[in-house]
Amino acid sequence: MWIEARIEGNGNKRKQLDKAPWSGSKIGKRSAKHLLWGLAALLTGCGFIGYFIPARELYLEIFTGNASFWVTAWVWFFAICTYLNAGWMREQMCLHCCPYARFQAVMFDANTKTVTYDAQRGESRGPRKRKQEIPPSEHGLGDCVDCNLCVEVCPTGIDIRNGLQYECINCGACVDACNETMLKFDYQQNLIGYISENELKGVSHSYWRSPRFIGYGAAVIIMLVVIGLDLNSRSEIQLNVIRDRQSLYRETVDNKVENTYQLKIRNKTQQTKQYQIAVLSEMPFSLIAEPVITLAAGEQSEYPVTVLADKAAIPSGRKIIQFSVTDIQEPKQQVSQETGFFSP
Ligand code: SF4
Ligand code: SF4
Repeated sequence: MWIEARIEGNGNKRKQLDKAPWSGSKIGKRSAKHLLWGLAALLTGCGFIGYFIPARELYLEIFTGNASFWVTAWVWFFAICTYLNAGWMREQMCLHCCPYARFQAVMFDANTKTVTYDAQRGESRGPRKRKQEIPPSEHGLGDCVDCNLCVEVCPTGIDIRNGLQYECINCGACVDACNETMLKFDYQQNLIGYISENELKGVSHSYWRSPRFIGYGAAVIIMLVVIGLDLNSRSEIQLNVIRDRQSLYRETVDNKVENTYQLKIRNKTQQTKQYQIAVLSEMPFSLIAEPVITLAAGEQSEYPVTVLADKAAIPSGRKIIQFSVTDIQEPKQQVSQETGFFSP
């Protein structure tokens, strides 16, 4: 909407442009708008996928056309969703798809501040001149001058003067619009404002006596503690072991069996780290790979390794082995993952 307002102007100008016949200027404005929407959507798509793939590589690969099929497909999926949802569906998303409004109703009580029209003060509504010698109340009028601005600016198209409605997303656009009108008429602000039901009735309250306030407050504190503990115990290394999908095992001429794996190791710290790679088992397995790997801050590496064993020294079938990756400078930082080793 911000891009649209910069290119096509305010609501009235956009309506005029909609009705105008196609011309060079209209084609130019529409093309620029959709091009910028597309770019914003593509950046948003990259933003989503950047949670799963190192962002520096992702942007480079997407904009140079070198990303893999699945990465490109996911980025475009989110980009198209963003383009359609933010560009075309807009408030329909808020009304029909977003669970926020329904969810929030559960948390409401008479003390919740929400966008509310003060009907007692505003009614009876009606137009009037800006400067009146006789106060409006003597004409039987309230403070609402019925300018309809609050309805015009509402992104979900509702009239807040009809009371609380589930479509209201509490954006506050009607509050600002009404306050501007109040200013012009020299009336008190906040005919529409963030007001609770009890405030409107003049009933005083204390949050500390509200079971909802205490309950939700306790829930938030518990969540913060859990997040804090989780962050504190978070591992600084990420390990993902993937078996070679081409063959279960290989037999060598000197009666040994080998299995190959890809170790995806990520350094989640902000410093360059050296890691020791080892294979752990009660049986005599040996690792055929350079056992120390150096990763820069935030780097992820796919490291191929082979595990070897004497055929006679291990039972046939599947055995469990464990790979471990240890930070050489801080041995407390260690991760491990189990996987299978196959032999004939
Ligand atoms: S707060 Fe926003 S959504 Fe709710 S009535 Fe006002 S303008 Fe409409
Ligand atoms: S903006 Fe304020 S004064 Fe104008 S119609 Fe809405 S409530 Fe009434």
